[in-house]
Amino acid sequence: MRRLFILAILAMAGYSSAQAQDGWSPMPPGAIAVTYCLGGRVRSVIDMEVIGTDSLEEIAVHEATHREQWRRKVQEAGECPTQYRTPAQALNAEIEAYCASRPIRMKRGFTQQEVDDNYLSRLYYQFGRALPMFTIVDSYRRGCP
Ligand SMILES: [Zn+2]
Repeated sequence: MRRLFILAILAMAGYSSAQAQDGWSPMPPGAIAVTYCLGGRVRSVIDMEVIGTDSLEEIAVHEATHREQWRRKVQEAGECPTQYRTPAQALNAEIEAYCASRPIRMKRGFTQQEVDDNYLSRLYYQFGRALPMFTIVDSYRRGCP
């Protein structure tokens, strides 16, 4: 099986219909997978590069968690919300998705410490400009004990 080293973010985003124009892509630059909500429908897009790699199952579980999060939001609001209100809310959604995929990564032979270090570096890459390192680490430890 092909091994893929993933540095890219696994993003989750909501888009307004005004953003859904010609040339629009749900995949942020550098991302390998994204789950988004548009027109009341929840979709995941995964880069074909990950098909056949040992990361596919982990990514699928991560994005499945985001689909569930979006479906809950659509059920509550009746439509797609555009974005999370705060970076902390977006961080907690990411932590839930990483926590769901942690056992899959551990099945591949990584220790929990290695997985947590990897996920924390991804979360810091994604949220480090918006949130202090302490908040990211503390939220991760509490959200994924
Ligand atoms: Zn994610």
